Amino acid sequence: MSEVSPGPGVAEGIPFVISGPSGTGKTSILRRIVERDPQVNVSVSHTTRPPRPGERDRSDYCFVSEAEFRELIEKRRFLEWAEYQGHLYGTSREAVAEPVRMGIDVLLEVEVQGARQLRERLPDGVFVFVLPPSMEVLERRLRGRGSDEDGAIRSRLSRAHGELREVHIYNYVLINDDLERTVVLLEHIISACRCDRDRVLPLCRDRFDFG
Ligand code: ADP
Ligand code: 5GP
Repeated sequence: MSEVSPGPGVAEGIPFVISGPSGTGKTSILRRIVERDPQVNVSVSHTTRPPRPGERDRSDYCFVSEAEFRELIEKRRFLEWAEYQGHLYGTSREAVAEPVRMGIDVLLEVEVQGARQLRERLPDGVFVFVLPPSMEVLERRLRGRGSDEDGAIRSRLSRAHGELREVHIYNYVLINDDLERTVVLLEHIISACRCDRDRVLPLCRDRFDFG
């Protein structure tokens, strides 16, 4: 987010873009990360999909009508948006710009078309793809979640094959076998990115002579 500038001596937050087929465990992973790290936010997306049981407006998603979503597109409020399974999903510019400016890292859970757009728009973004241990396990998880009907599960599985072909645009790949292990791996990725040379050196140039 080079157009936003943090205060002197404060690094911008890092946007982490997380993708992977539906049911791989992205939401479960991100929930645990934010519970454990106060320096990380999850970006709340807009969607026209109806809420699932237990989902809360403005917490899981901003649930809007298609007309409202199209109006936000017109007003250029989205950093990216895409259609997925007949519904629209989008990340608002403010959901990313504001925390990044404050030095908070932001996790964006987006499907692959959105991630492609973000590759162009977030030059400092770090892209992470989550794989299931196998396609059989993926199907079991989708059925076990109990939130989609058989038709929707089949269509999510068939879409997963196309999504796997997009893995090459990502920097990191996590195989979510054991949830806790995967969460720790993502925490390591986040920590490593925070120590990136190009990010740290400008913050301490006034104290050291790096030549
Ligand atoms: P996504 O957000 O990628 O669609 P979810 O986080 O909703 O996926 O996870 C799909 C289902 O799989 C949920 O029921 C979740 O509890 C379960 N799950 C997630 N990660 C694991 C894991 N490592 N092992 C077993 N079950 C998992
Ligand atoms: P679900 O309906 O299971 O919550 O999400 C369906 C897909 O939409 C998932 O792959 C999820 O990552 C993706 N998604 C959620 N929010 C956004 C968003 O803001 N933009 C895009 N492009 N995809 C999103």
